[in-house]
Amino acid sequence: MVVNFGAPIFSRHNEYGAAMSNSPASNGIAIEDYHIQSEPFYLSAGDEVQMFESAYRLKLPVMLKGPTGCGKTRFLEHMAWKLQRPLVTVACHEDLTASDLVGRYLLSGQETVWQDGPLSLAVKHGAICYLDEVVEARKDTTVVIHPLTDDRRILPQEKRGLLLESHSDFLLVMSYNPGYQSVMKDLKHSTRQRFIALEFGYPSEKIEQSIIAQESGLDEDTAGRLVQLGNMVRNLRQHGLEEGVSTRLLVYAAQLIVDGASPASACEVAVTRCMSDDPEMQEAISEIVSGIF
Ligand code: ADP
Repeated sequence: MVVNFGAPIFSRHNEYGAAMSNSPASNGIAIEDYHIQSEPFYLSAGDEVQMFESAYRLKLPVMLKGPTGCGKTRFLEHMAWKLQRPLVTVACHEDLTASDLVGRYLLSGQETVWQDGPLSLAVKHGAICYLDEVVEARKDTTVVIHPLTDDRRILPQEKRGLLLESHSDFLLVMSYNPGYQSVMKDLKHSTRQRFIALEFGYPSEKIEQSIIAQESGLDEDTAGRLVQLGNMVRNLRQHGLEEGVSTRLLVYAAQLIVDGASPASACEVAVTRCMSDDPEMQEAISEIVSGIF
């Protein structure tokens, strides 16, 4: 296990876009920028590591399901490092189109030059491409996702009249938070039935305590109290809270405490205020905090 308090545990890989602007390689993008150099800390809760390794060997697309801040991205960073594959991450949003993923012609002086998008880059170089919160993207993205996620494994670059065959190491991964979906924004069966699904939830108490302690440097006892807080706030979902508190927020609270904040103030800004705008719900959370600290 990597023990590294204080300093960043690993240098984060680039999200697509960050690497584009400062890389001198072909098309302005260097795949090397997407390699993860040192082991991202990840505590496993089940058999997801072995399952992902099998999926990678068998070239089965993977869906990571679960609420926000429960370790999906960290898991994938860890797996990309373990499998020694570059990881190209795309944060999907409502304006993201198929062209954004595939690429486009750009004007450079008097010429137009083709600029590969993140998916083309990953397909060509055998990277893992991570479409984070894929249901947010425009519906036309399915046109490029579907032929990549069946046995064709091809990417149409329509504007160039090309069909790219995937590198043998290419893997498509998407994340999906079932809690956020509305009728308008659900994942279609024609898409979801192309992926195996690894389900992520809030970690068990012992694992969450270790994650919090490891990520922040906080002592185990106080980390345990934050876990207790997390569980009690998660129970408020039965009383109208939309989603449970994430491990990420508990880690933030821990980091603030390590930086000198009192536990009550840290929980106020990292948990109470973030979880709800409703004064009554905030009061309920504040009461839980004062019961624990
Ligand atoms: P998401 O599910 O939204 O992708 P992340 O992977 O970004 O969430 O997790 C948020 C934070 O929670 C991470 O930065 C890390 O500090 C912590 N975390 C959650 N689960 C784990 C885990 N199993 N191992 C290590 N850190 C974790």
